[in-house]
Amino acid sequence: MPRLSEVLAQFDALWPPERAEQWDAVGTVCGDPDAPVTRVLIAVDPVQDVVDEALRLGADLVLTHHPLYLRGTTTVAAGTFKGRVVHTLIKHDIALHVAHTNADSADPGVSDALAGALDLRVVRPLVTDPTDPAGRRGLGRVCELDRPATLRDFAARAAHRLPATAQGIRVAGDPDSVVRTVAVSGGSGDSLFDHVRAAGVDVFLTADLRHHPVSEATQHSPLALVDAAHWATEWPWCELAATQLDEISDRHGWDLRVHVSKTVTDPWSSHHSSGAPN
Ligand SMILES: [Zn+2]
Repeated sequence: MPRLSEVLAQFDALWPPERAEQWDAVGTVCGDPDAPVTRVLIAVDPVQDVVDEALRLGADLVLTHHPLYLRGTTTVAAGTFKGRVVHTLIKHDIALHVAHTNADSADPGVSDALAGALDLRVVRPLVTDPTDPAGRRGLGRVCELDRPATLRDFAARAAHRLPATAQGIRVAGDPDSVVRTVAVSGGSGDSLFDHVRAAGVDVFLTADLRHHPVSEATQHSPLALVDAAHWATEWPWCELAATQLDEISDRHGWDLRVHVSKTVTDPWSSHHSSGAPN
């Protein structure tokens, strides 16, 4: 069985830490490089419920997309919720590693997984990484549908294929409009509207869309918007990363057990359509 340092070297090859955004905090949060790894849990959020899931599974490594500490801290006391996560991990010899914006921009990356979940054909990144001569890395993806669909049917596909959340799917646009091309961006995508407009796609699928950017984007041009829960748009990456890690394990004869988290860590917990009778 591999040591943690050997598994982390493979993670760094898939998602080189130097390709993370400047403001990001990726890499290993805790873990002994010499400790053996037999079981890995992959999740979006490094929250206590996910750590408890790792405990139940007997995992000795947790890989998450979101950082535990995006900014510095002066305490990991167990009385703080993040400190409790650190205490639980270290007490049970569980390592935590983060691949965030370095996984967003990877090839394949978070938005490839989102496109794959919806059976979209990826054409190119929405924002190409200028350091990639092949032009395959970058943020978001521009995609095509195999067959044109109505916006209504495309949104229904997103609702059906992405994991269930209280929010479900919100749509801006004429439900009968025809969708041929789609831009997707896992996580918060409202900083990408200029690139989406430049790409000339019919729909933008992302998460965390807010009133003003949406209002302005839809006034600007006939762009339709599909907004899912942040967690739901990034969860397909966990399955992609599990497939990548399984292949690495097979190649090295490691016999790793790789699990994708079943814990819904979307913080929204219920939804009521407004205007409905009591
Ligand atoms: Zn995210």
